Amino acid sequence: MAKKPKTTIDEHGQTRDRRGEWRSGRPVYLEPLLNDPLNVKGIAKWLFGFPGFFAPWFAIYMLVIGISYAFFTPSLDRMGSLSADWILEIIARNVILLTLWNGVFHLWFYRWRKQGRQKKYNANWMSKNNPTFLFKDQVWDNMFWSYCGALFWSAYECGLWWAYANDWLPYIDFSSNPVWFCLAMALVPFWRNFHFYCIHRLIHWKPLYDRVHYLHHKNVNVGPWSGMAMHPVEHLLYFSCVLIHVVVPSHPLHMMFNAFQTGLGPAVSHSGFDEIVFGDEKSVRNDRYMHYLHHRYHNVNFGESNVPLDKWFGSLHDGSPESDLHFREVHKKRVQGQQVDAS
Ligand SMILES: [Zn+2]
Ligand SMILES: [Zn+2]
Repeated sequence: MAKKPKTTIDEHGQTRDRRGEWRSGRPVYLEPLLNDPLNVKGIAKWLFGFPGFFAPWFAIYMLVIGISYAFFTPSLDRMGSLSADWILEIIARNVILLTLWNGVFHLWFYRWRKQGRQKKYNANWMSKNNPTFLFKDQVWDNMFWSYCGALFWSAYECGLWWAYANDWLPYIDFSSNPVWFCLAMALVPFWRNFHFYCIHRLIHWKPLYDRVHYLHHKNVNVGPWSGMAMHPVEHLLYFSCVLIHVVVPSHPLHMMFNAFQTGLGPAVSHSGFDEIVFGDEKSVRNDRYMHYLHHRYHNVNFGESNVPLDKWFGSLHDGSPESDLHFREVHKKRVQGQQVDAS
């Protein structure tokens, strides 16, 4: 049989390797605040550039939580006691929001294929007729588990709203403490990613991986709905990042930002595309290569790009051929070690 060529050129002129993978050639992007704290110029550019810390995603989340808080959240006096009416309103709000948010990404990239495979890491589209997935369909499987996730998101959120309404939680607002209010909002993404790294390492522990996290990793080729396609135990751990508001003085808007980014962020980080391309020229860098490589290789890149724990603990795969070689060696040694242990 003829050997597959080492590389191919796709319809967009992009070079793809034997497995059909495309790489941008840029190393995995680590946000400079913690990765390179003396690089003041780089940090300023990252903070105020586009895309940067504030634009577009932080700003978009502020808009989404602002609208949700003002128009689609029950009043605090109704939430003092647990009752089905307001709990169902929050569940409905989150389910609708998840559908709209993930739906936009899914439609753009996968249904309408607005940019074809341009800047797409993996050559393939979502899997169909594949018994690995529920309903033999990757998208339907991913949607099912994502909606389960929305229930955990809502459960945590309702619990915290109930506690806020009863004055059980440490509370601040903008007028009493404007500096902490703004700082805490900016710290939410860092806390989330620190928490995610910790629980992610935990569920890669073999007994938990085999029973829980395997479900997320069925998705080697990821799409927006894959992000929250998790086992319910993983949902329970994943959304527990919002419990920080039980101990840290915050406003419900901080809690909403934390919960919303946890619920909606995975669609962005699992888009499978390096850039969002509009028309022929304009594009916005998406830089989700780090987590894509986690799905590809499993034992690398447990965290996200703003808290460089992977770099500090030696699990960062930066996407380069050198990293490939290094982790192939690490893997080989691990397998040899297991064989020695077994003999
Ligand atoms: Zn993932
Ligand atoms: Zn994982």
